[in-house]
Amino acid sequence: MNMKKLILILAAFALAFPLIGAKLQVVTTYPYIAGLTEQVGGDRVDVRALAGGQWDPHTIMAKPSFIAKLRRADLLIINGAQLEIGWLPPLLNQASNPKVNVGARGLLDLSRSVKMLDVPDNVSRAHGDIHPDGNPHYYLDPHNMLPLAEAIAAKLSELDGTGVQAYRKNLADFRVQWNAKLEEWDRRLADLKGAMVIEYHQNYDYLLRRYGIELLGTIELLPGIPPTSRHIQELEAKIDNASVRFILQDVYNPDEASRHIATKHHIRLIKLPHDIGAVREADGLFSLFEEIIRRLTHD
Ligand SMILES: [Zn+2]
Repeated sequence: MNMKKLILILAAFALAFPLIGAKLQVVTTYPYIAGLTEQVGGDRVDVRALAGGQWDPHTIMAKPSFIAKLRRADLLIINGAQLEIGWLPPLLNQASNPKVNVGARGLLDLSRSVKMLDVPDNVSRAHGDIHPDGNPHYYLDPHNMLPLAEAIAAKLSELDGTGVQAYRKNLADFRVQWNAKLEEWDRRLADLKGAMVIEYHQNYDYLLRRYGIELLGTIELLPGIPPTSRHIQELEAKIDNASVRFILQDVYNPDEASRHIATKHHIRLIKLPHDIGAVREADGLFSLFEEIIRRLTHD
């Protein structure tokens, strides 16, 4: 085969499959970020999440495959606000990919796009060991998905200029669908306004704040620090003087203390997913919130 013919064949292939090899390789720390990136990126991106949705997001057990994924990444999207501080930095070091290192264009920290709760005004341990910069679980307020989607669309457009129109359209479509769901979810959760709850860990604070649900206390002593018997006694004394509707428990922390208090004080214990894949029903971004709201509102 002569060179001219070969070039013609290669050119034909390039025209037939313009996206092969050209997809932006995106790695996300958590499944919810992957779900959101797929909404905005569509078929221009290849998205992989590192952590599994059933795992404790603060303490992810790294696998060798994580480093391989980080090495291939054009873009790494993280939750930020120190949620990954316990596990991601050594992996980034080992992957040594200049595209996604701290300070590089290919690293997007989503926590910069939302307003954080419980940001400490001084350096103290009052917020426990694992929320030193405030509560990082902002993604469990469904209203926060829109600013996050906008931040992702802006970053994808910056790194992949030819896709700007596609990202803009995908974002607009997502906004319409998500706003319709928000309207429905807001309506369904309106009845819980003023209700009092207890959480194991402060996973759902942003959701509670959004819908006017009040938090009596947590079963953990502090974020990341298990309950002591004295703390449980103090919490039980508060329960006696309040009308507590639910105890909210995630799927990965031990639930003995929650079950004990629920039984003793006749309070309903609700296990909630905290990410896509945490429970069977939460198999995508829409169904994650659908399932949280179903579990909170069904009798
Ligand atoms: Zn936490």
